[in-house]
Amino acid sequence: MVHDARSLRKKIVILGAGPTGLGAAYRLKELGQEAFVVLEGRESAGGLASSETSANGFIYDIGGHVLFSHFRYFDELFDRMLGDEYQELQREAWVWMMDRFLPYPFQNNIKDLPPEAVLKCVLGVIAAQKAQLKSGGEKPAYKTFEDLIHGVFGEGIAEYFMMPYNFKVWAHPPKMLGTHWIGERVPVVDLERMITNVVMNRADVSWGPNNTFKYPRHGGTGGLFLRVAETLEDRIRYGAQVTGVDARRKRVLLADGSDEEYDELISTMPVDRLVQSVTDAPAEIVEATSLLHHSGSAIIGVGVNQPAPTTKCWMYFPEANCPYYRVTYLSNYSPEVVPDATRQYSLLAEVSRSSYKPVNLETVVDEVLTGFVNTKLLSPADRKDVVDTHLITREYTYPIPTIRRDDALSVIQPWLESRDIYSRGRFGAWKYEIGNMDHSVQMGAEIADRLVRGRPELCWKDQILPKKDQELGLNPLREPARRPGSPETAPASAL
Ligand SMILES: Cc1cc2nc3c(=O)[nH]c(=O)nc-3n(C[C@H](O)[C@H](O)[C@H](O)COP(=O)(O)OP(=O)(O)OC[C@H]3O[C@@H](n4cnc5c(N)ncnc54)[C@H](O)[C@@H]3O)c2cc1C
Repeated sequence: MVHDARSLRKKIVILGAGPTGLGAAYRLKELGQEAFVVLEGRESAGGLASSETSANGFIYDIGGHVLFSHFRYFDELFDRMLGDEYQELQREAWVWMMDRFLPYPFQNNIKDLPPEAVLKCVLGVIAAQKAQLKSGGEKPAYKTFEDLIHGVFGEGIAEYFMMPYNFKVWAHPPKMLGTHWIGERVPVVDLERMITNVVMNRADVSWGPNNTFKYPRHGGTGGLFLRVAETLEDRIRYGAQVTGVDARRKRVLLADGSDEEYDELISTMPVDRLVQSVTDAPAEIVEATSLLHHSGSAIIGVGVNQPAPTTKCWMYFPEANCPYYRVTYLSNYSPEVVPDATRQYSLLAEVSRSSYKPVNLETVVDEVLTGFVNTKLLSPADRKDVVDTHLITREYTYPIPTIRRDDALSVIQPWLESRDIYSRGRFGAWKYEIGNMDHSVQMGAEIADRLVRGRPELCWKDQILPKKDQELGLNPLREPARRPGSPETAPASAL
């Protein structure tokens, strides 16, 4: 590898040991960078992709994490870290509504709904498509996500599924979201397929042999990132809570009163907090952070003293009879996440929260258990077999792709770079569309490559190449391959 000897000597500080910070550090080590350190506020690595063990020995992730990799670098890292210690699973996803399960995706499986609901969904799509035709075949320019939902899916699907589900996931009204994050490809509903499935009474499932995902056998999702962190043991400082950045003197300020000098800073903390903590940030840059919205989560793990009742992976819940938008049968991912998989299973419920959708953390666990009964995941009698509950809360879990998000980022990011600060990752970049684990690791590795070898970043610029063409930072920019719907909020992009 060709390196610039000066770049190898400069000091790089990485803020955060989540997937992005770990990706950056791992790559710097690979490139032979001498001077770098990772500052992590918590006592362990993994960030939002870490896992927690409850007092009763159940392991829970911070929300259902499903791995879909767009990157060869990520695949190779996964293989190197885990060898054959992973499970390969079929993505079995369902939607619960009107007291029944429909296979996901919703729009292809409405046949099991009451006839009046089926009719409303079908007529809604027809009306939406007629309206599109009237516009003379012009590509519709939807300003808000709510407009897109109505314009593409029609009134029925919007009312039953898309609107309530998306409010539950984002904890923000869909009219606050833009459409830029969905990409150039405006979704279309396949009306013929939808009607054929209804008339022929045909189930149309999205899973099958080609629709699989990997999950670490040990330690939950976090098991992967703990292994990455182990390879960087001497480079990560835990309990190093960063309180500010003195960009003029190029120092990171820590809660214990110490500071850390840098030549270049890779930050993975939320970019709004970062900017607000930089000592000489101009007022207009700080002001721009007010355009960035986020939600937080309450994640509730539940252990049950019964054998697993189903092979389902995860389920979406659009209705108001439960507080969660998604529940995962986590013990179906790996038997190692419960103390005894022959007679126990676990569920993981995700509840979003924000000022638009407050959640009472004192009562949320009970509300989730009541929701399990309402949505028939548990019977009233099963509640006596609940042997574990575990609540995880985080303030920043979804960067909301609001209409003016990119206006804010377009002034914040160049200013940070002018101060040798590179803000990357789920909340560092604040781009939901590249906010998954694989994107995060790749973004970290690519900024490392850029700082040491001067290679262009692609993922952060939303340029995702087909895997066969990938070699870190070496590719000329080509037509980007759009990401397929992320498993994380599939119905939002389900499209
Ligand atoms: C509910 C939920 C479901 C998800 N599902 C999926 C999925 O199905 N598939 C998928 O691929 N991805 C999923 N993700 C996304 C995945 O968790 C992220 O892609 C990934 O964790 C982002 O990594 P990151 O390093 O950018 O940020 P983070 O994971 O947030 O890590 C940032 C790190 O910085 C540290 N830090 C922050 N501030 C400071 C400070 N001031 N001082 C010191 N340290 C600090 C934090 O402690 C943390 O360790 C999901 C996320 C959530 C919340």
